Amino acid sequence: MIKLRGHHLICLNYYDGDGIDERFKENVQLIKKKMAEGDAVKVVEGPDDVCEGCKYLKDFTCHYSLSSEDEVKSLDNLALKHLKFAAGDSIRFSDLKKILSFIPLEFYKEFCSGCNFEGYCKNPLKN
Ligand code: SF4
Repeated sequence: MIKLRGHHLICLNYYDGDGIDERFKENVQLIKKKMAEGDAVKVVEGPDDVCEGCKYLKDFTCHYSLSSEDEVKSLDNLALKHLKFAAGDSIRFSDLKKILSFIPLEFYKEFCSGCNFEGYCKNPLKN
């Protein structure tokens, strides 16, 4: 079972892992492949399977920037609130995609605002 934190439940639908390094990208693409093949996703709090392949994860904390740990936690909460999920829930990628199709564009304006990976992402605001 794949473990994903709140904001990655949304980001992985639009982002292929570019912008950090090759190890990170390969890990993201492997996770996405497993999800597409039907592996279930378990919602977790804090570092997940994506963070495990990230050079910025140290001591279970995101060190992307000085404020990133607080920022990613806040993004996790925002995502879980909109998706109506909580840590411990399980979901299939196909069901997650259906839920995301009902999320209004307004949500992404707030959720994606200021993201460092915006240039690599194909979020709905770009359609
Ligand atoms: S930048 Fe932070 S939240 Fe994003 S994958 Fe790396 S450790 Fe996780």
